[in-house]
Amino acid sequence: MGKKEEISKRIEELRELIRFHDYRYYALDEPVISDAEYDALFRELVRLEEDHPEFASPDSPTRRVGFPPVEKFQPFEHQVPMLSLENAMAESEVFDFSRRVERLLDSHEPIEYVAEPKMDGLAVEVVYEEGVLAGAGTRGDGYVGEDVTHNVKTIRAIPWKLFSSEDSREPAPPRLIAVRGEVYLDRADFERLNRSRMDAGEPLFANPRNAAAGSLRQLDSSITAGRPLKAFFYGVGAVEGFEFETQWRMLRRLRLWGLPVNPLSRHCRRIEEAIQVYDDLSSRRASLPYDIDGVVIKVDRLDWQRVLGEKSRSPRWAVAYKFSPDEAQSRIRDIIVQVGRTGVLTPVAVLEAVMVGGVTVRRATLHNQDEIDRKDIRIGDVVMVRRAGDVIPEVIEVVASRRSGEEKAFRMPRECPSCGGEVVRLSGESVHRCLNRNCPAQIKAAIGHFASRDAMNIEGLGRRIVSMLVDEGLVASVADLYRLGPGDLESLPGFGAKSAQNLVASIEKSRQPSLSDFLYALGIYHVGRHLADILAEHFLTLDAVRGATREELESIEGVGEKVAGSVVSYFSNPGNRRLVDDLLAAGIRPGGVRSAVREEDPFWKGKTVVFTGTLSTMTRQEAGSRVAAKGAKVSESVSRKTDLVVAGKDAGSKLEKAVRLGVAVLEEEEFLRRLGS
Ligand SMILES: [Zn+2]
Repeated sequence: MGKKEEISKRIEELRELIRFHDYRYYALDEPVISDAEYDALFRELVRLEEDHPEFASPDSPTRRVGFPPVEKFQPFEHQVPMLSLENAMAESEVFDFSRRVERLLDSHEPIEYVAEPKMDGLAVEVVYEEGVLAGAGTRGDGYVGEDVTHNVKTIRAIPWKLFSSEDSREPAPPRLIAVRGEVYLDRADFERLNRSRMDAGEPLFANPRNAAAGSLRQLDSSITAGRPLKAFFYGVGAVEGFEFETQWRMLRRLRLWGLPVNPLSRHCRRIEEAIQVYDDLSSRRASLPYDIDGVVIKVDRLDWQRVLGEKSRSPRWAVAYKFSPDEAQSRIRDIIVQVGRTGVLTPVAVLEAVMVGGVTVRRATLHNQDEIDRKDIRIGDVVMVRRAGDVIPEVIEVVASRRSGEEKAFRMPRECPSCGGEVVRLSGESVHRCLNRNCPAQIKAAIGHFASRDAMNIEGLGRRIVSMLVDEGLVASVADLYRLGPGDLESLPGFGAKSAQNLVASIEKSRQPSLSDFLYALGIYHVGRHLADILAEHFLTLDAVRGATREELESIEGVGEKVAGSVVSYFSNPGNRRLVDDLLAAGIRPGGVRSAVREEDPFWKGKTVVFTGTLSTMTRQEAGSRVAAKGAKVSESVSRKTDLVVAGKDAGSKLEKAVRLGVAVLEEEEFLRRLGS
């Protein structure tokens, strides 16, 4: 085989692999490789396609980064109308629904149902022709929506090509199928998105649904590509060349074709079981990673669905049983101002305590002065408060009918409430800032960020303790943390000998962060988690990042002008240079490039691992904590219960024993690969 052919074959192989892993990850929720391994495959493909443009293909997964912008949205017609659902707000209304179904069907056979979580996202229809994604549109008025094909093609959860099973008994995708589902954003991704918009002075999204809708309805699909949208599918519109029998089998079929289907959907033999699903999801909704606002209950048999038909706007065979809303009324007693690590002043409403979504809420964010003006929020107003899952509670709107005329308008203070410094609003920003670098509130917030889980991950160093350390004069910068001894802490309120030792030990544990974690922890403007990874991977060492020029930074894919400027200006600021030097002098050694993945990794999860010999790249202790972070257990001695032995140089009796017992052995190179570093 010639070299060209080999390259072309590898490119095809990589494309197939990436499609396969997207399927495992999004449709089955069962990834078989780590994120780092996936990234490596993706980077290899990008590199090969760049070096060999003759093998470019419009359906390569690398094209998911976006398409040329469009001028305006074209209409997208639904061949079969996308109806809305009738709502049920109480159990009795669900029983009304099932009695009506029984009466209309008048069947002797039991009527079975499917209960599906009702995603709080944006409804879309995606059309596949001969198994290939051919078009996508929003619901619109149910008959005509907007054509968002380009944007939908950037969503990794939505395959460009439906899967054909190798098992010939499984049917191939039909000639034509219009699948329907919901595009949504995980709450954590929503919060990250809003945080970066806040830092950039851009208007915030009110909730994950608005963020998903705003992200999908973009004329420039590269913006959509940058938002981590996901999707679940739950139905079909037009179909040619296939007949589904039941809703439940349809869901299974969609999943086999590679479409993500919510795994929390349930088949129910009686309506009571569907209500149980509702009760169960209702109590678990706050712990789900995404927002749901109820449960959709559908008659399972599709021939019965056709018999039942529809009313003017909604089908008779389905009902949306909605959760009690995560909204409540309260009164704003006062509006206070909090100062964040970048000096941004955030107005916060102090509320009369109220239960929202099962939790007592006393404060709610008002975002910024523009939001307050837009919603015309005043001190003393009766307002609607919303809290969805773990999202910070917020004031949605004023109940204007409850105004007495006594309410007071709110203005941002001209002086910082923490340091008394001048407050300014920079041009082009929606936020007010305190520009004093020595502002105690900013210092506290910066240290809190530095210590947070996504950054240096210093356990036990929460907001309250940081505040106390700064107020007591023990800490004035993050470098001071590494000079604390147990003796400094023991006398503080709430501390004893043991807790002082624990905190010092967990600060100690953070002395060898990955370069990525370290860069993120510094809190450079516009350098979030993702960009910290990009910078670390490109530069490999802290010195290289510090010395980078604007041009060098801008040449990196994914790094724009704004980030480049921000990194250069961070490291050219004398105060920041001193701080970084100070951290190095205190013994901080940013090491491995990649951040330690603090999520479980299917390869390591649940495995018992023993280390033996010397590793050339890290201490045994560090290796242990890396695999522990991925869900493995580290043990000292080899036994039949051992799953893996990692053997470094000069491995001795433990390795021999492992071989004797037939335990799998990883050499260092393979171990590093499995770690994803
Ligand atoms: Zn200040």
